[in-house]
Amino acid sequence: MTKLSEYQKKRKFSGKEKTTEPRGVIKKTKSKKLIYCIHEHHASHLHWDLRLEMSGVLKSWAVPKPVSALRTKGIKRLAVQTENHPVEYAKFRGVIPEGHYGAGKVEIYDSGFYELKNKDAKKIEFTLHGKKLNGNFVLVKTHYGNKPEKSWLFFKV
Ligand code: MN
Repeated sequence: MTKLSEYQKKRKFSGKEKTTEPRGVIKKTKSKKLIYCIHEHHASHLHWDLRLEMSGVLKSWAVPKPVSALRTKGIKRLAVQTENHPVEYAKFRGVIPEGHYGAGKVEIYDSGFYELKNKDAKKIEFTLHGKKLNGNFVLVKTHYGNKPEKSWLFFKV
């Protein structure tokens, strides 16, 4: 098991039926600036994928409701943690072919870097430097939704 096993198991990277996504490797060197991005993912249900570079991968959370509202302090969004993605995925945009995991169009909603302020099992505090989202944000563990063990709340402070 590696930090990308779940990501790689869910996708097919070779053959005629392969996905357009990168296979990915765990990044060994730390970026000077930690990568932040949000993908807009037109899958069976439109959602936004928040990704933050941590320990050589992109930790990822799927946000079912529009993230544009998060520019306003106090508005909270449910963010369901998903499998780690490779760091190079931050540049990915394209169409995941039908029949594949996450099939549909993937666009970059926002990108930039972030500064980690504090992190423990229940709370991650960070500053986003994106084009759309900027300022201090938190992810706080919650138990709301269909996947309570993976549920976080994402909001600006
Ligand atoms: Mn997604």
